Amino acid sequence: SGFDKLGLSPQLLQAVQEAGYKTPTPIQAEGIPHVLKGRDIIGIAQTGTGKTASFTLPMIEILARGRAKARMPRSLILEPTRELAAQVAESFGKYGKYNKLSMALLIGGVSFDDQEKKLDRGVDVLIATPGRLMDHFERGKLMLTQVQTLVIDEADRMLDMGFIPDVEKICKLLPFTRQTLFYSATMPTEIRRLTEQFLSNPVRVEV
Ligand code: AMP
Repeated sequence: SGFDKLGLSPQLLQAVQEAGYKTPTPIQAEGIPHVLKGRDIIGIAQTGTGKTASFTLPMIEILARGRAKARMPRSLILEPTRELAAQVAESFGKYGKYNKLSMALLIGGVSFDDQEKKLDRGVDVLIATPGRLMDHFERGKLMLTQVQTLVIDEADRMLDMGFIPDVEKICKLLPFTRQTLFYSATMPTEIRRLTEQFLSNPVRVEV
């Protein structure tokens, strides 16, 4: 398929095939090789463009190549809403079915207990809304020192919902040397400022 030239492992190609995808969408074809090379990304893309797979597939690949240090989270995906976070978690599960990675979904509206138990057992990936992630951090239950890849998805919706201060706090809690993948359908000034502050020499992918 058109996916096999992107640098993804056989496990991922199998999962993609089972998902029924024949050809990568433009953001996938253009974005995935850059992510695998370790570049920061500014993706100007709406939902429906295949954006989720454009960051989850290479993220799974990077996680599979590396090794966990005491199973502390190595990737963090921030989403503006519980629904989006849950959808991304579902996609992650689907694409990562042949890679033994563990993830925690940290969203509001459900008890802290189950989420904390999950964190205690050790996870590779956090998929979270900013508020709930900060709550966990303030409860002292979250180790962010091993996070090597950060995704900020739907940044313009984060802005509309007043989450930018939390996103900035979270960025400052993460290791300075990391990869940041940033997605937004539009680029208002506040969003551009955020990319200038937290991304390093990003590749711009516009679809
Ligand atoms: P997203 O933009 O990430 O919300 O994805 C939109 C929809 O497109 C989802 O239902 C995906 O399952 C589907 N999708 C993603 N990539 C592909 C692809 N390469 N071929 C066909 N469908 C896809």
